[in-house]
Amino acid sequence: MRRLALFSCITCFVTVLVLISPNARAQRPAAAKVYVALWFDTEDYILPPSDDAAKRLAAFLTEQGIPATFKVVGEKARTLERRHRTDVIAALQKHAIGYHSNTHSQHPTPAEYESLLDWEAGAAEFTRRERPGFDDVQRIFQQKPCCYGQPGSSWAPQTFPPLASWGVGLYLDEAEHVGLNGQPFYYGGLLNIFNTKEGPQLRPNDDWTNLEESKTKFRQFYEQMTSNGGGLISLYFHPCEFIHSQFWDMNFAHGANPPREQWQIFPLRPPDSRERAFYYFEQLVLYMKSFPQVQFITGPQAIRLYADGARGHKFSASEIAEIASQMEPEVDFQDRGTYALSPAEILTLLSEQMAAPPGTPGADSGVTLPFTVYGPSLPSPQLTEPVEVPWSQFARSVRDLHSFLQHKHQIPSAVWLGSEPVPPEAFLVAIAKIAAENKKGRAPPEKVIIAPARLATEKYVAADSPELWSWPIFPQGFHSEHLVELARLQAWTLKPAKVNK
Ligand SMILES: [Zn+2]
Repeated sequence: MRRLALFSCITCFVTVLVLISPNARAQRPAAAKVYVALWFDTEDYILPPSDDAAKRLAAFLTEQGIPATFKVVGEKARTLERRHRTDVIAALQKHAIGYHSNTHSQHPTPAEYESLLDWEAGAAEFTRRERPGFDDVQRIFQQKPCCYGQPGSSWAPQTFPPLASWGVGLYLDEAEHVGLNGQPFYYGGLLNIFNTKEGPQLRPNDDWTNLEESKTKFRQFYEQMTSNGGGLISLYFHPCEFIHSQFWDMNFAHGANPPREQWQIFPLRPPDSRERAFYYFEQLVLYMKSFPQVQFITGPQAIRLYADGARGHKFSASEIAEIASQMEPEVDFQDRGTYALSPAEILTLLSEQMAAPPGTPGADSGVTLPFTVYGPSLPSPQLTEPVEVPWSQFARSVRDLHSFLQHKHQIPSAVWLGSEPVPPEAFLVAIAKIAAENKKGRAPPEKVIIAPARLATEKYVAADSPELWSWPIFPQGFHSEHLVELARLQAWTLKPAKVNK
């Protein structure tokens, strides 16, 4: 009987499936993961019991098999060493170690000293002031710090190139200077887990009594994320906040900078309040752990998970032509599925291809991104009207741009059309148009028009305001239009970070 035969076949098929995979769930596509990055700003070098608080948190997580990241201040690491707290160091070493500045709140803090410096001088000064603490953390914890995050909201764009050159792959913190709708992103050559939306909503209130509300919020985030392809929750704590009555660094509030002998030790909170804090943390973490798709990740794991797919990718001529054809006068990053490209990377690829067009030796094997290219050091000249130049000038300007990229690893603030400087975003749109036309086999045009364009990714950088820099440690009213302007120039490097599937 045909019907029976068909039934038997189906039965067979189902049996085979079950035999191949006893777990029927394995037949479904992998469910979307919810990654949780737990990190601790380990910074209080004044109140001794904060050492024990850090140890207790690290030991609890180790016991639960949950990996976390401890961002340690240089002076905190040296203090642990001076106090012979090898037990605390050993407990933290079982997790990933990050870096959280050399002295944190002693003045001048990073944004204060960077606010007077340009791009190059700011990078050099960051290294002079902060590298010694980075080396101390590495020496004391026997682990290269995987990430950095600024003290308070003392953020500055000049910190990115030095961090990359020290081998740091991740900027891990919370503030609002730059952000991509709460998602992980690349900026300044580093993976940024920064300016996220969910983690800050899971933080304790002042008396740590909102555990149930936080659990409810977490469940909602989990449900949203698992039904939308997955996501990342970045959640931070300070070991000191579990026990203190006020932050250790209020010693340095509103620009105060007392010498060491005048540092005050603030009292501990009552024991029941301290226990409530640990209870909040432990219960929230255990609750998160109970969800099947939750995976806790450290800084190095995040770096691997979001490793930049554009790095090492060989871009074929047709791929570059397609990228070029999508260029708009509103210059934005391009999300190409498995990888994304920043405006700086698009300009680099196009200039690489123009320097060695298809057909020249070695060019047909594809173009790769040779190095990190930062944004300009200085604002660009204004272009209000389109300019027209002969092809010969345009071609020489392309070669000049290519040489600049090779030498400076940076977008120039102006591309020179002979005696006339134009903004790099306007030049990018023009070069993209030519690259897209080239694909169609057309000869170079006699004349090229460079029209006004705009760097759309600037919208991901916050405007300067006193609220952006609201940290009680800053001198009253501190803000910096200069730092925000430099940050906007680095919007050339911004693009989404994609999970490697
Ligand atoms: Zn801090």
